[in-house]
Amino acid sequence: MPAVNASTIDIRVLSEIQPVSVVVSVNSGKYLLMGDGRALSDTLSATLLEVKIKGDSVVAKTMEKLLGTYKTLYLSGLQPNCSFKLKSIIPSMGTRIYDDNLILTKERDKNQFLLINRVDMEKYVAGVVEAESGTVATDEFYKVQSILCRTYALYSFAKHGAEGFNLCDQVHCQAFKGRVKDHRIALASMSTKDQVAVDNDMKLISTTFCSNCGGQTVNSEDLWGKPSSCLKSVKDSFCIHMPHARWERKISIEDWKNYLELKHKYPVHDSVSFSYALNCSQAGRLVYFTDNNLKIPLKSIRSDFQLKSTFFSVEQRRDSIVFKGRGYGHGVGLCQEGAMNMAKMGYTYKEILSFYYRNINLVNLDSMEFFRDGEE
Ligand SMILES: [Zn+2]
Ligand SMILES: [Zn+2]
Repeated sequence: MPAVNASTIDIRVLSEIQPVSVVVSVNSGKYLLMGDGRALSDTLSATLLEVKIKGDSVVAKTMEKLLGTYKTLYLSGLQPNCSFKLKSIIPSMGTRIYDDNLILTKERDKNQFLLINRVDMEKYVAGVVEAESGTVATDEFYKVQSILCRTYALYSFAKHGAEGFNLCDQVHCQAFKGRVKDHRIALASMSTKDQVAVDNDMKLISTTFCSNCGGQTVNSEDLWGKPSSCLKSVKDSFCIHMPHARWERKISIEDWKNYLELKHKYPVHDSVSFSYALNCSQAGRLVYFTDNNLKIPLKSIRSDFQLKSTFFSVEQRRDSIVFKGRGYGHGVGLCQEGAMNMAKMGYTYKEILSFYYRNINLVNLDSMEFFRDGEE
């Protein structure tokens, strides 16, 4: 178990491309450049640094001189508010700005960089909130997102441990594009500094969320077979007029019939059963489409027809059927559009989180450590 009070985190950056040549420069503050643990220069401020892969190492040079070949280059921030610019030259990509430190090495068994941003946790959280929720929400919603991002980061701290860093910068972990630009988001992250969501056993919760639950969230066990005291179905009236509250999808009766018969051995030749399959409704969230003893998981219908959710009714329209659906996403945990609406209506981030996640406590990381110590 990694230290749970981590104040910095190692994020692999530019992991969506495979950079082999990059340019790094100081954006603000003073830096020291280290090659395999040795200082390579005086403090850096205006230098443009070009780094390429060579064999198993990386080669660094400035405009003026070659700095040498190293296994690891470490651009170390010497002040609290240091930031640097990073641009991939091959393949070509726009410049991004990151806070704090950068580690450059060659990725093991691959001819590409492993670029790690060793960054202050709160700066990382703010960057993720900006990358994942854009800049149109309210301050209170950003606080909700900040707590979720921080809780997730610590919950998943060891996700890429075997590869030498904590999290990647893609949606596989949490999208992160570097230094936050929106001041409001930076403030939301700082104003909830060190706060995380835990269950009644003081364990970090799984901060799963969906875009819109359609009016009712889903029990964790109903979707994933694994119960959680926090991920319980709740009726949600906050999202039902939001953009992803409703959807429709039409397919031919023929396709529906073939699908039910071939994939699920549904009795399509029984007129009562088939007429039910053409017109059935789902008032509250169900897990299965059921006919007598046959149970077809709604999640398999969702994935086979690429529907937005499992919360749909079926209605016949001439020679077609229409899936009349609600919500967008798996429906477990926090409903983003509902939470956004609650924030707009004046609910606090604590009320919003406790509405969507049951039996949770918001605690400071220090107190988590305290309770852990108490257990030993
Ligand atoms: Zn990842
Ligand atoms: Zn909802």
